[in-house]
Amino acid sequence: MFDRQTVQVTISGKPVKIHLVSTGAVSVKTKFREASKTGFLAMVDFILDRKFTEWMPIWVLIIEHPEGVFVIDTGENADVNNPGYFKSSGIFANWFDTTQFKFKVDRDEEIGPQLDQLNIPVEKIKAVVLTHLHLDHIDGLKYFASTPIIVNKEEWERPFGDLPKLYPSWFKPTLVDLHERYDVFEHVHYLTLAKDLLLIETPGHTYHHCSVLLKADQCSIFFAADICYTQYQVIEEKYAGANVNHKMSKDTYDKVKQFAKKNKSVIIPSHDADASTRLKELQPLF
Ligand SMILES: [Zn+2]
Repeated sequence: MFDRQTVQVTISGKPVKIHLVSTGAVSVKTKFREASKTGFLAMVDFILDRKFTEWMPIWVLIIEHPEGVFVIDTGENADVNNPGYFKSSGIFANWFDTTQFKFKVDRDEEIGPQLDQLNIPVEKIKAVVLTHLHLDHIDGLKYFASTPIIVNKEEWERPFGDLPKLYPSWFKPTLVDLHERYDVFEHVHYLTLAKDLLLIETPGHTYHHCSVLLKADQCSIFFAADICYTQYQVIEEKYAGANVNHKMSKDTYDKVKQFAKKNKSVIIPSHDADASTRLKELQPLF
């Protein structure tokens, strides 16, 4: 439904290929995507909402970096539509995840088959980097049993809305401390020796949600994960209905905008269908 997008940029003159692939599609309540209220009231609002959004992508970003291939998030898998997929997570999670979201995922849209189509063997992957622990970001983990998986230590220690019963039994990520600063961002971890790929804490959606920034020669590629659903929301200060903390979300929008005003940045939220065209054309936020 959402075509794969491949672009080539350079870092210090060296070619770097970037692939944006959608592991199927998701639809949420319209008021889950964009709320007029915050906190508990926003939750009541989206639960009572009967309208679902159009299908949206579930993006995974693959970066063929000179230091190795990095896979940012792992997307969804086809089992999500099996009746009973959420049963092990308890009555509330089962009700919530089967009534508030819809998924459409084919087996060949999972991250494993898509890496095969790109001729990227899993052994070539230096690391999988997770922005946070929500279902539609971790459900492709099954392909990476022998790959290092990097998670913000604080996100791991204080997750929000994750379903640990659906984690693979072997899942033991490499936890990193985000103790560096970069530009306007106070909690950052460098993923490469060249310091051109960064894990950046952008909280609000969860307490320690992260984005991933690639500093290419042409512009910065900012994989914003779930800070918002569309980049329009960042510009217009519109918020999703399920942020753990509204003030944190607002601060994150402010920081991303401050950064993007100084540094030409292509913003890629995980579920923004237009992100594919923006990446192709390297269209910045400002
Ligand atoms: Zn999420």
